Amino acid sequence: MVSELTHFVHGRNVPGRSGRFGDVYEPSTGRIRARVPLADRAETEAVIADAEEAQVAWGSWSPQRRARVLLRFLQLVEPERESIARALSAEHGKTVADAHGDLQRGLEVVEFAAGIPHLLKGEFTDNAGAGIDVHSLRQPLGVVAGITPFNFPAMIPLWKAAPALACGNAFILKPSERDPSVPLRLAELFLEAGLPPGVLNVVNGGKETVDTLLTDPRVAAVGFVGSTPIAEYVYSTATAHGKRAQCFGGAKNHMVVMPDADLDQVADALIGAGYGSAGERCMAISVAVPVGEETADALVSKLTERIAGLTVGASDDPDADFGPLVSRDALDRVDAYVALGVEEGAELVVDGRGLKVKGHEEGFFTGASLFDRVTPDMRVYREEIFGPVLSVVRAADYEEALRLPSEHEYGNGVSVFTRDGDTARDFSQRVNTGMVGVNVPIPVPVAYHTFGGWKRSGFGDLNQHGPDSIRFYTRTKTVTSRWPSGVKEGAEFTIPVVR
Ligand code: NAD
Repeated sequence: MVSELTHFVHGRNVPGRSGRFGDVYEPSTGRIRARVPLADRAETEAVIADAEEAQVAWGSWSPQRRARVLLRFLQLVEPERESIARALSAEHGKTVADAHGDLQRGLEVVEFAAGIPHLLKGEFTDNAGAGIDVHSLRQPLGVVAGITPFNFPAMIPLWKAAPALACGNAFILKPSERDPSVPLRLAELFLEAGLPPGVLNVVNGGKETVDTLLTDPRVAAVGFVGSTPIAEYVYSTATAHGKRAQCFGGAKNHMVVMPDADLDQVADALIGAGYGSAGERCMAISVAVPVGEETADALVSKLTERIAGLTVGASDDPDADFGPLVSRDALDRVDAYVALGVEEGAELVVDGRGLKVKGHEEGFFTGASLFDRVTPDMRVYREEIFGPVLSVVRAADYEEALRLPSEHEYGNGVSVFTRDGDTARDFSQRVNTGMVGVNVPIPVPVAYHTFGGWKRSGFGDLNQHGPDSIRFYTRTKTVTSRWPSGVKEGAEFTIPVVR
């Protein structure tokens, strides 16, 4: 049966009124699971109005009282981990084990955000001038919005919502229309945890919904994660309407493999980081850069062996290494990129196309593909494929290997595998990307550091989670005060300076 999803506004599940819906699929079977309402401008404006009203009281709560709601939320999620992971896996297509990881990485940011009172303390200088003290405080922005992608339907909404709420804002989430059930459930749990109605609203929708959030003057800031063209659009539209914006986009993450690296470790790392979640991760490794022909030959042979042992299956198959892609469009796009690579002259070592999973013939499956001898001029190298396709670009030496990720238009994550400390350090210092792994294939920073790519992987000045999230979700007020107030100095006509 196809269920009809709702919005979540003022603590209630609210049916859509626009008359427009999107289909939510089960990628393993190709069946439609649910219909999600797509909010129009009027519906979205009503959501904003509700959040604006709710924020006033929430913003006046003490930071610790707000943090308690997050702590309670963490407790309420505990017994639901399995059911959330299963719902997430069914709508997204990633395995249940991977869906647990998606939720867990989100919860880690909620844990971080529960400690935000400590980071909201502001600064104080006594006796900055004669009898004058100066203090600065961080105040919430008001209503902020988060627009999130399909590929981490628990993690990214939580990365955005938790710090925003802990800082005293009301948060409006516009999740991906492809897998909105988990974000809706998380919002219900926040309500149960004591979040006042309206402080976290979920509005489902597409472009009209997003455009309303980007242009309505009551929304003070927008956090976005998704593909680069939309990230750029959201950033320019939001900032043109006077909002703060941080918008994270696509990626082409390289792994540089030095000749001294442990190639078995490298091959295992590449298989997990390249094909895990069917390559639908912004931190997936999609380009391997072995240094030297000998390293390249050995690596390609080890990868080929391992790919032959991979199991692709339904998302609830406990033996599957990865599941289907999210949609038929995604499947067609990925297969078309494999065909393009062949046309462009890359060597297709393993062709994953045309894979059928028994009992799931209509699912959106494709197997792992491996290209060797990819060159930087090819579109399969320059563009994000977002599927289980790994390209090997052979580099003659370290400097050439370092140049590849540094000069690529995307700059999300990069990794180097080596046993040499000098190389690792030099690489980390000089490479032109936002996040670096040394013998770590997916260098997603822990919650109390910040996450963000460079170049066309990120638009805006501040990163997600960690201390940057507090800077993003608050504004600083600085108070200069003199006590006792009765000091008599007469009028001053020049600007006050420190004496
Ligand atoms: P997407 O850009 O299609 O959608 C992201 C969000 O934008 C969704 O909520 C969607 O409804 C909305 N949207 C889509 N088209 C829009 C339009 N024309 N106008 C306004 N809003 C629109 O991205 P996706 O396919 O859901 O996610 C995959 C992409 O996200 C990949 O490119 C991946 O690399 C990227 N991603 C980046 C990061 C990161 O941190 N850099 C993390 C995860 C995913």
